[in-house]
Amino acid sequence: MEVDLAIAWLRAAADSVAASAGELTRLDAAIGDGDHGVNMNRGFTAVIAALDAGTFDSVGDVFVKAGTTLISKVGGASGPLYGSAFRALGKALPAGPSVTVPELAAGLRAGLDAVRKLGGAEPGDATLVDAYQPAVDAFKGDDLAAAAEEAARAAEEGARATAGLRARKGRASYLGERSVGHQDPGATSTALIFRALTAITA
Ligand code: ADP
Ligand code: MG
Ligand code: MG
Repeated sequence: MEVDLAIAWLRAAADSVAASAGELTRLDAAIGDGDHGVNMNRGFTAVIAALDAGTFDSVGDVFVKAGTTLISKVGGASGPLYGSAFRALGKALPAGPSVTVPELAAGLRAGLDAVRKLGGAEPGDATLVDAYQPAVDAFKGDDLAAAAEEAARAAEEGARATAGLRARKGRASYLGERSVGHQDPGATSTALIFRALTAITA
């Protein structure tokens, strides 16, 4: 992955988040406070503005900029969580204009570790971890398009499966058993972000 492709991924993710903001907000209205689409759209719009305003020699710097922007622009749980993930991804990558697919895979896992450390969610707690973890596990091999496709499928399956889980972290956990039957908004946006990578690598 080169600098241009990293930026294209974030642009595709921003477009997808914008197109699905209504759905993300509806999902959050059912089990949270109904702002996930707004939060994500605000955050990714700011990310694109920050990327447009800068020049980047290193793939890692692109993701660090995305992460710090999300942390500073998005209140709520998702800003710090996604922001930490992208920042950890960027910091884990070797400096330079291009990274290999295994390096990207290791970076994505560093991002997941950052989310788990910050939010304390385990797999099965009905959070974005339930999409992110299977996506990272499926992101394998040397072919970026193939790794992205497997990761996107795994994230989508993980997101759907959150509907059968009781939420144990975040606002949805306040509902206890009543959260069962509702798909987690953050897991849904994570699946969108991985799916966006397939759109530019296929
Ligand atoms: P808020 O809940 O503060 O309004 P958002 O609505 O933007 O923030 O994001 C909610 C999403 O954040 C949830 O659907 C869930 O996926 C994720 N989330 C919340 N708390 C945690 C946590 N502790 N660990 C991982 N993900 C979490
Ligand atoms: Mg919310
Ligand atoms: Mg909120």
